[in-house]
Amino acid sequence: MRRLRFQILLPALALLASCSKDVPEDMEVTEGTDPTVETVSLEDATEVAYPNPGSVTEVYFAGQQLPVEQINGDYIYQGDILLPPDMVSHEEVEVVFDKDEEIPANKSVGRTSGRWTNNTVYYSIESSLDNKTRVYDAIKHWEANTNLDFVERTNESNYIYFVTGSGCSSYVGMVGGRQNITLSSSCSTGNTIHEIGHAIGLWHEQSRIDRENYITINYGNIQSGREHNFHTYTQQGMDGDEYTSSLDFGSIMMYGPYSFSSNGKPTIVKKDGSTFSVQRSALSTGDKTGINNMYPYTSGGNTTTTTPEETYVNGEMYVVYGVYLLRNNDTWYYYNRNYGWLEVFNRGGYWFYK
Ligand SMILES: [Zn+2]
Repeated sequence: MRRLRFQILLPALALLASCSKDVPEDMEVTEGTDPTVETVSLEDATEVAYPNPGSVTEVYFAGQQLPVEQINGDYIYQGDILLPPDMVSHEEVEVVFDKDEEIPANKSVGRTSGRWTNNTVYYSIESSLDNKTRVYDAIKHWEANTNLDFVERTNESNYIYFVTGSGCSSYVGMVGGRQNITLSSSCSTGNTIHEIGHAIGLWHEQSRIDRENYITINYGNIQSGREHNFHTYTQQGMDGDEYTSSLDFGSIMMYGPYSFSSNGKPTIVKKDGSTFSVQRSALSTGDKTGINNMYPYTSGGNTTTTTPEETYVNGEMYVVYGVYLLRNNDTWYYYNRNYGWLEVFNRGGYWFYK
């Protein structure tokens, strides 16, 4: 029987999210829902994830088009293999690149992809960064409210670098290698908490797929050229997931009603046309719910994570850095729809054709 191994590390494709500088206002916290716990019953010798089949749909996972069953939000492949939803796309995603190809900077594998392993985020701070206290305070806030640990980097290869910039910005998710969070002198502790939110894998709250149920985007009031900031992550070709049942106006990842306004009129309003308050002081209850679903508590701290250095068995299929590959002759092969099996190699978490 062929084995599949899932590697939580993903291709290092991420979006540099530009962020609005929001003025903290009063706090409005929306409760998130508890995660639904699914039970699996094994009635006979055939392992299935659910006793009853779900609807079959074609999706892309790790670069492969797969028919999967969709049940209760889970993607199930071949009966008993659960696919991480953040690695599933309904549109084809390029996952292997030509040898000398530049990695498209506007690509991401998702809001929840590129997670940090073992709930540990490594970081380093530029020595000349102004007001380092905001970084330490933001990190303290994350540690006090989530299962994540932030550890000052020694020689780890994947880490956040807090660096002086012209605004506040961050990549979404763990990118691989050094990834900057830029902070200008006007970025507050709250803004830093928000940027760390991106780096651990969060999109903006208003880019949820279901946001039309809660808000209206007034495109006519948005500064020219800034409209893309208001697209849902799927409209941007990104993949992701929602971890709470409804849009959380209190999320630290939520834009304010006047973000990127060209004329002083609101760009985001509630469905009834009214504006709302946003906050940049703390993670909301909904934020904590979502983040704790992304990074569940692990008693030992060290969860089982396969690494590319482990021994692979020739003739078996694996998912490594988010790509479905065949191991043969101690070499990796990727199935290209047009050309068949092609040898690939990894560089910095990305796969390239040889
Ligand atoms: Zn942001």
